[in-house]
Amino acid sequence: MTIQVNHLVKRFGNFLALDDVSLSVKTGGLVALLGPSGSGKSTLLRSIAGLEQPDSGEIYLENGDVTHAKVQERRVGFVFQHYALFKHLTVRQNIAFPLQIARRPKNYVRQRVGELLDLIKLEGLGDRYPAQLSGGQRQRVALARALAVEPRVLLLDEPFGALDANVRHDLRVWLRRLHDEVHVTTLIVTHDREEAMEIADTIVVMNQGRIEQVGSPQSLYDQPKNPFVMGFLGPVN
Ligand code: ADP
Ligand code: MG
Repeated sequence: MTIQVNHLVKRFGNFLALDDVSLSVKTGGLVALLGPSGSGKSTLLRSIAGLEQPDSGEIYLENGDVTHAKVQERRVGFVFQHYALFKHLTVRQNIAFPLQIARRPKNYVRQRVGELLDLIKLEGLGDRYPAQLSGGQRQRVALARALAVEPRVLLLDEPFGALDANVRHDLRVWLRRLHDEVHVTTLIVTHDREEAMEIADTIVVMNQGRIEQVGSPQSLYDQPKNPFVMGFLGPVN
């Protein structure tokens, strides 16, 4: 298992944002966390990233206990809806940034940035600034930057949420292809049922800080465990 979460609890004051959440994600999986607004999806993702400290429970990445590890020690890449690129840096410089922080040699950085530009199909746009890109292109650059240091896990929190429907659709197809190419274990948060059904191998349905059901899109659709999952994922009538 690349990600193993055991009995995670997170409170904000008296509010229970994560209520005994346990979850395993297989290496190379593309898993969607799906649920209504406020169900705890971002809190779970941020806890795995190390941006929130849980009150109890454990988080393992590749069998190592990272529950109390710093963000930089976890080797995770993340992209949020508004996790902006550096405006004063070019596309190439944005992607190079985490590699420079990690003190990789110059030649390696140049080669890796080239590979990543190729991967996101923006070879010709390396010298542009973020303001000269479309919203969809910017999120592709954010993804390349997240992948730069070869993270163990890619964490995406509604990465396409701010974009219009057509662009979102194209990016989903693109993300699925990218995943099939690089096989990085990916956890994507969405409140959009279609998005989850379309791209994920496995869907984790969340509601009120709990996991209601985990399964393939088809199995959740065919055999919802309870009325909530049925209402959220089942046949639309
Ligand atoms: P989701 O991503 O599923 O919409 P979140 O994980 O962001 O849900 O939030 C779950 C609940 O926890 C929400 O009710 C939210 O208001 C609350 N919450 C999240 N972060 C904080 C915080 N930093 N302080 C207080 N409450 C928070
Ligand atoms: Mg959220």
